Amino acid sequence: AALEQIQAVDETVNAFVTVDEAGALRRAEEVQKQIDEGSLTGALAGVPAAIKDNLCTKDLLTTCSSKILYNFKPTYTAEAVRNLERAGAVLLGKTNMDEFAMGSTTETSAFGVTRNPWNTAHVPGGSSGGSCAAVAANECFYALGSDTGGSIRQPSSFCGVTGIKPTYGTVSRYGLIAYGSSLDQIGPVAKDVSDCAAVLEAISSYDRKDSTSLKREDCDFTSALVDDVQGMRIGIPRDYLGEGLDEEVKAAVLAAAKALAAKGAVVEEFDLSLVEYAIPAYYVIAAAEASSNLARFDGVKYGYRTEEYEGLHNMYKKSRSEGFGEEVKRRIMLGSFVLSSGYYDAYYLKALRTKALIKQAFDEAFEKYDVILGPAAPTTAPKLGESLSDPLKMYLGDIYTISVNLAGLPGMTVPCGKDSKGLPIGLQMIGDCFQEKKMIRAGYSFE
Ligand code: GLN
Repeated sequence: AALEQIQAVDETVNAFVTVDEAGALRRAEEVQKQIDEGSLTGALAGVPAAIKDNLCTKDLLTTCSSKILYNFKPTYTAEAVRNLERAGAVLLGKTNMDEFAMGSTTETSAFGVTRNPWNTAHVPGGSSGGSCAAVAANECFYALGSDTGGSIRQPSSFCGVTGIKPTYGTVSRYGLIAYGSSLDQIGPVAKDVSDCAAVLEAISSYDRKDSTSLKREDCDFTSALVDDVQGMRIGIPRDYLGEGLDEEVKAAVLAAAKALAAKGAVVEEFDLSLVEYAIPAYYVIAAAEASSNLARFDGVKYGYRTEEYEGLHNMYKKSRSEGFGEEVKRRIMLGSFVLSSGYYDAYYLKALRTKALIKQAFDEAFEKYDVILGPAAPTTAPKLGESLSDPLKMYLGDIYTISVNLAGLPGMTVPCGKDSKGLPIGLQMIGDCFQEKKMIRAGYSFE
């Protein structure tokens, strides 16, 4: 049924870069046999899923939606995906994204834009736009995305689905093609909080192959699916409701806060003014790490290689010039610049200090609150083509999501209404480190 739905709608939505029909059918049969024998049980057994195309899948194209990886078939599978396979997932294919996860609209993909299933003249958000659109268009039951500065939460908001970015270190990054390694986390996208909790539970694991992986004993996230927020302390940063926030989005978020208060939560506003510095700090750190991570794509071992060249250096230069898109090149140049001698202290080091201060501000907030509430994005989904011409404006759209990655916190988007054009609005819930369960409980109680 999922494959039929993909057949029916994906020509328009373009949520998938690769559909592995034969592999999915083969796997479904295999899984069915194990279920019948009783050797495979559990909520995810046999459920069709889609995977963002920056997660390595053995022998299956993994492109990061970039020309430079147009023919790349990994020799191994990402740990998070392996965990899903152990739980009995049936993988349908790989979803479209902004090239190397750099962007907020899925328009920087080398393989065409993904369209928002609610209104195909609009973007699905990004960078996990393919994963969120696939779930919204009923092409799969859940999907994996990655979130470096909002790439799960913002497109979830635009597509009216639920998405979780867990605490940094909860899901192994082994096999996730790195963008900003100190910020990247893999997480689930699904129709509701219950499905997201079940998928997050399955993909979370300690992994020696990822040096930042954490040993957690508390990843039984489905145990937090309790409809009770009595006495829960919820804070709304005043700075999340100010200038730049669309009135309809603001109204929906405040209505959500009211609904939670009516269920017994204690809701109040507070100051988190440091978030003003989150965007500049993020774009320095993310670009710095990206410039280093993307140095490996040189046309030598895998991926795209230019056809004609004179000598090794010319081959590197031409392969990279032709293989990377504009946004990726912009980040590599910005990153190389802020890391260069003479500028390192002024930009990179300063950004790291800002990051530490932002973490501190959240630590203080979580002494008072269980969950922080706000919008996931300042607007609903913009029209296709509106964002590309002005990258700075696009960066500013990440204002509500980015500080969560800088502080390593868990964050979640839950749908909270529609605007007058019928486009979904998302509510963001932020938890303290390791406090996904409070966030999940609040989200479950709200939806
Ligand atoms: N929009 C942000 C960026 O372009 C976040 C992307 C992400 O989370 N991968 O960097």
